[in-house]
Amino acid sequence: MQCSCGASADLSTQVNQKCDAELRYCACEKCGTISEAVLVLHGHDVCWDVTGDAVARRWFSTLTPESAEELFQSVTALQNVLLGDSDDDSGDLHTQFSFTF
Ligand SMILES: [Zn+2]
Repeated sequence: MQCSCGASADLSTQVNQKCDAELRYCACEKCGTISEAVLVLHGHDVCWDVTGDAVARRWFSTLTPESAEELFQSVTALQNVLLGDSDDDSGDLHTQFSFTF
């Protein structure tokens, strides 16, 4: 992973054990830029930084056990709908889509 400044950015992780949450991101050792942040709850990726808005980092920094649970529930509910209730097998995604909608 290369930072926009040209130096190499290393993968880092912050852990919030109270919420069973992790923030994974690339941190540049030269300029300190953080990129590609992903919020992980209970081992599932639930939230990603987008261009211009550090959504995952904001969630992580304001996380409480309650809000973590709420976010996790709403994201997994959405994923279940999109993936047709299957956690492991996303290979049938197109089939699921055409039959469901
Ligand atoms: Zn950099």
